Amino acid sequence: MNELKNYMEDLVDIHLNKLLEEYKDVCKCNRCILDIKAMALNNLKPRYGVTQRGNLFIRIDESTNESNVKIISEIIKAIEKVSKNPHGGDE
Ligand SMILES: [Zn+2]
Repeated sequence: MNELKNYMEDLVDIHLNKLLEEYKDVCKCNRCILDIKAMALNNLKPRYGVTQRGNLFIRIDESTNESNVKIISEIIKAIEKVSKNPHGGDE
């Protein structure tokens, strides 16, 4: 069984985990982490690929450093926004 996967989600996960080690004051509750991811992913181009279910090996196109810089800068923007308005704000 094959399925469609947005590899950008994995890339954002990887970079977010590294960045959060440096942002010690940012809330890391489930809601805030998801808000950060959603915000960053909305500003990044999705990268869909077909993957085999159960296959843990994911071929990630590391392409260019430029896209990593873009991913990191979008995550940092999202972290800063969420840290000013944590847990979804006044909803
Ligand atoms: Zn929170």
